[in-house]
Amino acid sequence: MARHGGGRGWYGKVVGAALGVTMLAVGASVWTAQADSVGGGATPRASASATPGGGAKPVDISIAHASDAGPRGVNITIDDGPDPNWTPQVLDLLKEHGVKATFCMTGLQAQAHPDLVKDVVAAGHRLCDHSVSHDTAMDKKSEAYQSKEILDAERMITEASGGVRPVYYRAPGGAFTPYSRKLAASRGMRPLGWNVDTKDFERPGTDAIVATVRRELPNGPTILFHDAGGDRTQTVEALRQVLPWLKEQGYDFGFPVR
Ligand SMILES: [Zn+2]
Repeated sequence: MARHGGGRGWYGKVVGAALGVTMLAVGASVWTAQADSVGGGATPRASASATPGGGAKPVDISIAHASDAGPRGVNITIDDGPDPNWTPQVLDLLKEHGVKATFCMTGLQAQAHPDLVKDVVAAGHRLCDHSVSHDTAMDKKSEAYQSKEILDAERMITEASGGVRPVYYRAPGGAFTPYSRKLAASRGMRPLGWNVDTKDFERPGTDAIVATVRRELPNGPTILFHDAGGDRTQTVEALRQVLPWLKEQGYDFGFPVR
């Protein structure tokens, strides 16, 4: 957790600043999505609230870092999307290399782009609840606020996917609390950390992102990338290099343990 805490200062600021921009764009998309759904007669809110706890088997409340692929396993985790520009490019690369990943989505992005959420699920990747609005100061807020952010995102993602639930919860910026971990775990969403922060969000250059993965992989198997929140060209290019490199090194791609 030291690395999470240590990384949160800059991360929160960068994400917070970027999210301000993202939110404006999302607002328009959400409105469009809602307008579209009127004709379909969908009543997603009612369906989700009708099954509190339905189908959710409680999981461990500790923050997972390990891979279910064993000692040479690595977990590719992709945060903050889905995004209509970057997510399809990431999905293409994962498919090309036969890699399954974990997508930590915000409720707002999932609600705005349900087609992309369904694409992620159809390709065999796993979903992770990344809160509704990516408030990196969530650990300073009330339990009621945390609950709403986590459970509303769970509902929004599940609706967008067509009923496939997120099976992890990753606090925005790593801002977990004992309460948020317990709540997520009670809903079958294992709290999810990371070991390698590629810092792709800062756009340090493709080479720097790749170098960070190589250097920090001994820290542990769970690697953090982003597919939204700004220009992710460097992330896509880095994945294009990192995925085959990991294979060459003998790593197996897996999911975080639950
Ligand atoms: Zn995030």
